[in-house]
Amino acid sequence: MTMLDTGRALRIAIVGAGIGGLTAAAALRKMGGFEVSVYERSIDLGEVGAGLQMGPNAVKVIRALGLEEQFMQLACEPPSRVTLKWDDGTEMSREPFKGRMHATFGAGYQMAHRADVHNLLLSLVPQESIHTGVECVDVQNGKDGAVLRLASGEEIEADVVLGADGIHSVVRTAVFGESKARFTNQICWRLVLPMEEVRKAADKLPASFDGSQYTGWLGPKGHVILYPIRGGESLNIFAGRVSDQWAGEKWAVPSPIDEMLDAYAGWHPGMLYLLSRATETFKWGIHDHDPLDAWVSGRIALLGDAAHPMMPTLAQGAAISIEDGYAIARHLDAHRADPIAALAEYERARLPRAARVQLQARQQFLNNQLTPPPPFLPTDWIYGYDVVTSRLAAD
Ligand SMILES: Cc1cc2nc3c(=O)[nH]c(=O)nc-3n(C[C@H](O)[C@H](O)[C@H](O)COP(=O)(O)OP(=O)(O)OC[C@H]3O[C@@H](n4cnc5c(N)ncnc54)[C@H](O)[C@@H]3O)c2cc1C
Repeated sequence: MTMLDTGRALRIAIVGAGIGGLTAAAALRKMGGFEVSVYERSIDLGEVGAGLQMGPNAVKVIRALGLEEQFMQLACEPPSRVTLKWDDGTEMSREPFKGRMHATFGAGYQMAHRADVHNLLLSLVPQESIHTGVECVDVQNGKDGAVLRLASGEEIEADVVLGADGIHSVVRTAVFGESKARFTNQICWRLVLPMEEVRKAADKLPASFDGSQYTGWLGPKGHVILYPIRGGESLNIFAGRVSDQWAGEKWAVPSPIDEMLDAYAGWHPGMLYLLSRATETFKWGIHDHDPLDAWVSGRIALLGDAAHPMMPTLAQGAAISIEDGYAIARHLDAHRADPIAALAEYERARLPRAARVQLQARQQFLNNQLTPPPPFLPTDWIYGYDVVTSRLAAD
């Protein structure tokens, strides 16, 4: 066990059993010798029905956690990346996709279902370490530890508290105050369809669309991104649209399907038909946050969306959260007797990288609105990074 001077194991309390919090819990368990407790507000553990693009930087962590083989059975790497014109479905571009990232960065770019990634991470965390239906309402540094206050009134003492409680983080607000968000006038819907729906609609769809590719249907003031997940059994759809109507930042808010169809009036009838096959859909507004100046205060550290809420333009929010989860475990492992030093080093190592991704996601979002859009900003520095082997200051 990781012993403090007092002779007992370091107690790590993680607020939030999302993708970031569970990666931290799984990685700490892999390093061994920490007493990890996860506190999750939801009664049932799980993830929303949506796809997740897992860049090579995230897949490397999945590999390090020993989950790659199972992950590859649940994920998909589409053969090509295709763009189609919004109204008539003309193919505007096609480039090979599968295997390219692996050749350059040592891991592929995989499409997965969020729930599958969540379940895999969960499989590495003992059930008794996760406390569900437990809402954290406050956190404070104490003299020799940090204290979590729960909605029940109970107080939990820990040597380290990790705030992995997402975009509306209570831990962040308690330690650093409210983070201001700016609505970007972009709203999005997400839905997942059985691939059978695509096959049944083949006569309505352009010949170049069969659901197996990483497809962007691009139009004025909107785009629809479609890709296969679950080994090609399902199709994930992400539909983004400029809108003057304000929409909230929560992304599990059900939306009437007709509202989504109205937003894409005039688009290719086959694409609209696919959208109309949704049995449920969720809508949210894209908000922009400035990077934080600090993620750590004493024995309390933020990770994931709590630390760096970012626009979805680069599909890197979860990937950087997964990196954070692995990184924090490495830093705590390297400074077993001095958690305060571990957290300070974690912040120095991680904040600049995450802030740079946040700012690039913002810039890419702005570039995408220009006509014609400038070339994509470079992403090699994002995908090529390996948090598993990156040098620690302690090395
Ligand atoms: C539609 C959509 C598509 C996306 N697609 C991609 C993609 O393709 N690739 C990618 O890398 N990223 C993507 N992202 C971003 C990604 O989903 C997030 O960055 C990621 O989920 C952040 O993980 P997290 O663990 O920090 O937070 P979350 O997943 O939000 O988890 C936070 C957890 O904390 C719990 N919690 C919250 N408050 C409390 C509290 N007070 N007490 C106890 N528990 C609490 C919550 O219930 C939740 O379980 C997407 C985001 C959206 C909205």
